[in-house]
Amino acid sequence: MSCEELPVRLLGVGFRFRAAGFGVLHCQRCGGDRVYRQCTGRRWLHILFVPLVPLSQVPEHVQCTICGTRYRLEVLRMPTMDEMEHALAAGAVAAAVAMLRADGQPGALTLAHAVEFVTAAGVPNAAEALHGAVSEEAFEVVAPLRSFARQLVTPAEEWFLADVVRIGLADGPLSDAEIDAACLVAAHLGLTAAQARGVIRLTGESAAAGLPLPRPSS
Ligand SMILES: [Zn+2]
Repeated sequence: MSCEELPVRLLGVGFRFRAAGFGVLHCQRCGGDRVYRQCTGRRWLHILFVPLVPLSQVPEHVQCTICGTRYRLEVLRMPTMDEMEHALAAGAVAAAVAMLRADGQPGALTLAHAVEFVTAAGVPNAAEALHGAVSEEAFEVVAPLRSFARQLVTPAEEWFLADVVRIGLADGPLSDAEIDAACLVAAHLGLTAAQARGVIRLTGESAAAGLPLPRPSS
C-alpha cells in the first residue's frame, strides 16, 4: 500500500502522505534489503472522504514498499545486508593483511589459512585479493576494521579476533609481531587490551592442546 493509498475513514481523522524520496533499507519485517519510500504527511479532519481541516503533521518516516511497514528515520542508520556483507569482506581482508604482514614473508600454511578465512567472509578470488592487498604499501587496515566493528554485536568481535589469531597459529605459536598485529586488530574492533590478551591466550591454548581448529583445505 503506498503513501497515497492509505485508507481514509468516512468521518474522523485521516492521514495523507506523499513520497519525498526513495532508497534501500534493511526491513526487519521482510528480513531483507527492500526499497523504501520516505514519507511526509499530515493528519486531516475529513468528512465523506474529503479532507477539510489540516491537523498536526506526522513525523517524517520511511515505509517498506514491499510489506508497508513504517519506520522512524533512525532505521536508516542501520546498515543494509549488502552493506554488512561488504563490511565483513573488507574487514576480513584488512585483518588478514595485518596478520600476514606481521612476520614479513608469511609461510604457505599461514597464507592458505588466511585465504580460507577471507573466502569464508565472502571475498571472491580471495588469494588474489590478499596478494594484492599485502603487496600494496598504501593498503590501510584501520578504516575497514572500524567500519566492520560498528556492525558487530558482542561477543562477535572476540570470535572474529579468534579467527584472525588462528591465521597466525597456522604455522605454530604466535610470534611477538603476530601478537602485536592481533592486538592492533582487537583495538580497531573496539576490544580492550585485556579482552585481546584473553582471546589470544585462549585461542593459543586451544591450539597447543590440539583442540580442533579450522584448517585450510589442501
Ligand atoms: Zn518490508
